Amino acid sequence: MKRDFGQRQKVVCLAAVLLCSGCSGERIIQLQRTGTAMGTVVQQSIYTSDKDSSIREEIEAVLEALETEELSWRLSTSEIYAVNAGAGEENGTVLSDELSETIWRCMELGEASNGAFDITLGQVVRLWNLDSQAAGEVSGAYSIPADDALQEAQEKSGSSKLILNRQERRLILPEGMALDLGAVGKGIAMDRLLECLHEDDKVTGAIISVGGSILTYGQKPDGEPWRVGIVNPQDTSGYIGVLSLTGEWCVSTSGDYERYIEVDGTRYHHILNPATGYPADSGVAGVTVLTKDGFLSDALSTACFVLGSRQGMRLAESYGAEALFVEHDGSVRMTEGMQELLELEY
Ligand code: FAD
Ligand code: MG
Repeated sequence: MKRDFGQRQKVVCLAAVLLCSGCSGERIIQLQRTGTAMGTVVQQSIYTSDKDSSIREEIEAVLEALETEELSWRLSTSEIYAVNAGAGEENGTVLSDELSETIWRCMELGEASNGAFDITLGQVVRLWNLDSQAAGEVSGAYSIPADDALQEAQEKSGSSKLILNRQERRLILPEGMALDLGAVGKGIAMDRLLECLHEDDKVTGAIISVGGSILTYGQKPDGEPWRVGIVNPQDTSGYIGVLSLTGEWCVSTSGDYERYIEVDGTRYHHILNPATGYPADSGVAGVTVLTKDGFLSDALSTACFVLGSRQGMRLAESYGAEALFVEHDGSVRMTEGMQELLELEY
């Protein structure tokens, strides 16, 4: 049995990469930094008139707080951890305003996508354990989950089983179920970072990549658009095309080339079809979604990947989002608005 663990995710999970050039303004300085957060690479490029700016540190603190206090399913300090630990408790868990709103939006998207987007897949995700495998965190042989174990885990999923009282911010998670917000974490991060940039009146422009989810903000000093390359899923050393964006956009990509394992020539990737419990197989190799709302771009990119280009396109359009689908056969489908923003590379 041949097992080939996908090692590309650490850097290549930058599904789209920054193509930003240097600064030219007189009093505007460019601050750059590369770090890590939420198991992925964070690249900041920020233009500011404040030479003593601490914006980069503020951004790192925002990301750290989001992971450790709200979203991590691994760290016992987070709200999601507490929700999962409280599964089956009659009174549920009281959430912060932010997380309550996030869960509500996730449930809405679960419904709008006919269940293709599902944050209650925690047990199924853990069973596949593809993130840890692809990140090289687990040594030894990998075995594909057994069908009966998958079925059991799948029975413990379904966002319609969640009970959220928005007024009390109380979430009841049925016994045995577990939440996993991996599909929206980077999107929420973009929304929080945009708030952070707005609050700093010295920042004139920024482009930030959180594991390949990219936000643009304000203007470049030379007045040129922000340029964001979209990786070609079939040859990840190249681009499908380059987006020219004004601030402020959020760009999210979901692809089967980001975190995966190959066993006997079959690729098992990290985006699962809730209907089967197996990696989604909709014919799409990668989908990029653009909205002004980070949560939505990230959530839609996952949902569209699972749904495939036809249904995914309808879903994206119903939210006023721009979307680009690259199929396994190399064909490309995109919304009209995307055509105006994208210059294809071939
Ligand atoms: P997306 O398409 O945006 O999301 C795919 C992810 O969503 C899957 O990995 C799974 O978690 C979940 N998912 C799968 N199918 C569905 C579906 N149908 N509906 C809804 N959700 C689905 N990675 C590490 O390697 N190590 C870490 O320590 C680590 N910590 C993290 C902490 C936080 C708070 C977050 C948000 C992410 C972390 N990650 C970590 C990354 C995470 O495990 C995912 O791999 C990543 O978020 C996937 O993003 P994506 O854009 O590639 O895919
Ligand atoms: Mg996503």
